[in-house]
Amino acid sequence: MSYNYKNQIFTLILTIAVIAGSTLTAGASSIAANFCDIENHWAKSYVEMVSKYNAVSGYPDGTFKPNDTIKRIEFIAIIVNSQGINLRSPLQGEYWGQPFIEAALEGGLILPNEYGNMDDATFNMNISREEMASIVVNAYINSGRLLDPIVLNAASSRLSDLGTVSPRYYENATASVALDFISGYPDGSFAPKQYASRAQAAVLSYKLLVKLGIITDDNLPLNIVLSKNKLIQGDVLKLSVYHADSPSELSLVQDLYSDFKWYHHDSVIQGVIPTNYSTAPGKHSLEFTHSETGVITTKTIEIVSRDFRVQKLTVDPSIESSTRNDEAYAEYSKYFNPSRESSSTTKYYSEPFVLPTIGRLSTEFGESRSVNGALTAYRHSGIDIAAPRGAEVLSTNRGRVTLAMPLILTGNTIVIDHGEGLFSVYFHLDKLNVAEGDIAERGQLIGTVGSTGFSTGPHLHFTMSYYQFNIEPGYVLYDRSITKDNYLGLMK
Ligand SMILES: [Zn+2]
Repeated sequence: MSYNYKNQIFTLILTIAVIAGSTLTAGASSIAANFCDIENHWAKSYVEMVSKYNAVSGYPDGTFKPNDTIKRIEFIAIIVNSQGINLRSPLQGEYWGQPFIEAALEGGLILPNEYGNMDDATFNMNISREEMASIVVNAYINSGRLLDPIVLNAASSRLSDLGTVSPRYYENATASVALDFISGYPDGSFAPKQYASRAQAAVLSYKLLVKLGIITDDNLPLNIVLSKNKLIQGDVLKLSVYHADSPSELSLVQDLYSDFKWYHHDSVIQGVIPTNYSTAPGKHSLEFTHSETGVITTKTIEIVSRDFRVQKLTVDPSIESSTRNDEAYAEYSKYFNPSRESSSTTKYYSEPFVLPTIGRLSTEFGESRSVNGALTAYRHSGIDIAAPRGAEVLSTNRGRVTLAMPLILTGNTIVIDHGEGLFSVYFHLDKLNVAEGDIAERGQLIGTVGSTGFSTGPHLHFTMSYYQFNIEPGYVLYDRSITKDNYLGLMK
């Protein structure tokens, strides 16, 4: 018997088996497993939903390890389980995956020579995106579903790197995108050789269960993900909400940041809560209400106090009187304050932030100051980088210039809006190379280091803020504070 003939028979048998299995599985949903490591993971709702259908399982220690890469055999097991196929019992001392491999071969999910050497070691290797796409599309087609050639064509013209897909996976890779099992990346690439995570595998299992009609109510519960549970004063908390339709369905009660706004991205709603020296250390609660369902979710975060430095500053009394006076403050309020009041509703940038100039860190973020012996209420809004006069100052990222002008207090001053409330600020510049309204590219020369305004020598004062709320710039650039102890390493 030729192999193809044999395979067709298996496919026929499996199609019947799958349909029968589906019916059984549909009524067989149980309680979702309670994995201990997915509480703050984007895929939480998917993992819990498919675990109800016994499509995924975790480890004996109660973890799911969502970010781990997934092995071929683990993915095969997930898809076999998603189809609700009854397996034969494993034999004593047998490789645990063997019954799944047999089911996958019988079901036409994989070919007998799929991975070359079909031994245990081969099945324990990480699965690539193209291999995954092939299995899930086979599962779909072998359940009797058809592919629309028009949709298939549209998908192949959308992908930029189909040429790098192995020829034998070409059709199924295209189909996986056409069927929305796998989405291409924003740049149009499919990245066929890239490994997938266990979380991504759970999403594929979910999509298959929906398409096979096993999951009928595809409204996943709201999943609220916090970037951190514990923040040092000056850090930024990022909130991501999955499976909500619109920001208008969400309300958030919290006492950390009064200008909080939601931003709607492709499939996720996000917001940012900045903290700084004015944020009270201790526990703070975030209470989310989903108006669609009335479900209230409360999360708690902890703010850890930072030991801010106190700077003793001596300033020439004549410079002080000419720069720190009522006229200077009035001018600052008139021009500087409005420059951070409104922000683009979309981000101008997509790449990481860069340090605007290299030099010696002379003042940390949040330092308090005593000027000429008297302690002031002032807190340092950014970092000071001492550098020679004329040294280049670069835009920390792409954005729109909302202020570029000389001010008595802060000298030649630039403010850049990066979108969604994030701003960067540059003080005491010698020269200004941009004008209000310009788009500054990431790393573009925007001015030079100087000592204009209230300044004791050439340096760049660099602030980052959410609207007018100043944050530690280090958290935007390096996900940690920039301090006198670590700046040399960070500035490399
Ligand atoms: Zn400064």
